[in-house]
Amino acid sequence: MSGVQLQNVVKRFGDAQVIHGVDLQIEDGEFCVFVGPSGCGKSTLLRMVAGLEETSGGHIRIGGRDVTQADSSERGVAMVFQTYALYPHMTVAENMGFGLKMTGHPKPEIDKKVTEAARILKLEELLARKPKALSGGQRQRVAIGRAIVRGPEVFLFDEPLSNLDAELRVEMRVEIARLHREIGATMIYVTHDQVEAMTLADKIVVLRKGRVEQVGKPLDLYHNPDNRFVAGFIGSPAMNFLNATSEVTAATVPGLAATVATSAQLPAKGTAITIGLRPQHLHITAGDTHRVEVTEALGGVTYIHLLAPTGEKLVIEAKGDVIPALGSSVGLQADAAQAMFFDANGLRLR
Ligand code: ADP
Ligand code: MG
Repeated sequence: MSGVQLQNVVKRFGDAQVIHGVDLQIEDGEFCVFVGPSGCGKSTLLRMVAGLEETSGGHIRIGGRDVTQADSSERGVAMVFQTYALYPHMTVAENMGFGLKMTGHPKPEIDKKVTEAARILKLEELLARKPKALSGGQRQRVAIGRAIVRGPEVFLFDEPLSNLDAELRVEMRVEIARLHREIGATMIYVTHDQVEAMTLADKIVVLRKGRVEQVGKPLDLYHNPDNRFVAGFIGSPAMNFLNATSEVTAATVPGLAATVATSAQLPAKGTAITIGLRPQHLHITAGDTHRVEVTEALGGVTYIHLLAPTGEKLVIEAKGDVIPALGSSVGLQADAAQAMFFDANGLRLR
């Protein structure tokens, strides 16, 4: 059993509190992703699990054992960072086995573990090379190998792919997913990239300003966000948010031809609310309310950036090759059934 449990975890740096009472249960073998904008506390929370950062309040348990005060080396975790920090004068094999050598493991055992990690990561051909003779992706693979060799109960990744170019990032993402399937260990993975979060996670934890906004499976967060922050953060291009007015069983949106009917519990008639609509749930129609500002034709789909009469900016996704002219005006129609409604505080109205 090597699940990870956080109970009312708090972190202060001097007078500044950056983690505000996080409660979280990560199951044994689960791939859990912490996602959120830069500075929201992802790394700090991960480093607290790793024991690299002291916990100011609350409890951290790994495999049921309270490790809040335990030394990093006693937690059964291994961490992979954004920077690979390989020893330049050592070969790939020596880099991977170095931790075990330092803790006095016998050479045959180290060799066996390095060989096994190299097999998993497809590094067998590169074991005798020095880091300078490796590509960025291969170096990051060695850094992951170093973690595997230690046989941790829990793997901790802090933005491990951020230094790689876009193509390699996709390739390594697939590799890490395969690694998780093969090893089956609990993994906690930090990223600011919601696409990485969506594609890797069993469970996503959306963080904002040191607090958990929502926890759930990727598609549950996408289809059923609890608030405007999560709705806007998960999904690309992001959800559009439009100022609207409650009509109790529908909402009016300036510039939209029809009211948006809903079974959600809307506040009293006349109350200001926000409607959220993803780009694929808005469609161009006859009319002249919205000005076409930018079009991005990607082949399969086209993103059309519109300026609403209210001054709000929108992005809609259109299929096919009929692209409206820049500067022209179009009408706009919403899939009412797909609309989400948020109150003035950004909480979802259901
Ligand atoms: P993220 O990884 O989500 O980008 P961090 O966990 O690195 O965010 O940082 C969270 C907050 O804690 C930020 O406001 C950051 O400035 C602050 N912080 C991080 N490390 C320290 C530190 N050693 N001393 C003071 N403040 C810190
Ligand atoms: Mg960070």
